[in-house]
Amino acid sequence: MSPATRRAAPRLIVLSAPSGAGKTTLCKRLLADFLQLELSISSTTRPVRGSEQQGKDYHFLSTEEFQKLIAADRFAEWALVHGNYYGTSKDAIERSFAQGKSVLLDIDVQGAESLRKAYPVECFSIFISPPDLQTLESRLRSRGTDSEETIQKRLKNSIDEMKEDKHFHARVVNDDFEAAYAKLKTMVDLQLGSSS
Ligand code: 5GP
Repeated sequence: MSPATRRAAPRLIVLSAPSGAGKTTLCKRLLADFLQLELSISSTTRPVRGSEQQGKDYHFLSTEEFQKLIAADRFAEWALVHGNYYGTSKDAIERSFAQGKSVLLDIDVQGAESLRKAYPVECFSIFISPPDLQTLESRLRSRGTDSEETIQKRLKNSIDEMKEDKHFHARVVNDDFEAAYAKLKTMVDLQLGSSS
């Protein structure tokens, strides 16, 4: 195979960030630019928010259903985030890998840590930082979907999460969206071998 057509082995591209750091928008842009990248749809026990759809945004499960999947070892990683369970299906990752596809994951810092251990070769983890906590708070508020209690809980967790950035392979500060995306795209390009 010539260097121009060679594809790297499938990768797990893990993005973690405090809620409100702009990670969801960055993920959407990556998926549009890299056709060999598939988004991992997580399972969660948190309630549906706004216009979210079952199976598209998340697999929304009861706590009992989620715990059964943990017991059956069906998650590549799972964590309690803001008081709810979130997890990544092992089968879904393996299916993507079998098709030669890389996987994009939008997960918290605990999940990223687990995947760095479970997939030490395939995993490339990137921490997305907000420019500062004030910006993070105003982004969380402008979303308009969370209660004051939820916003406060998320802000407190964000401060803890931001201390974890040193464990990631790379870090991108999302101050200016286009500049942050350009950095991210270059990193992903290097990992995947080529953009589509
Ligand atoms: P949200 O409820 O705002 O959609 O997500 C809350 C947090 O849970 C975010 O930091 C998100 O990245 C994280 N999260 C979403 N899916 C997963 C998952 O499968 N595993 C882990 N560990 N965290 C997840």
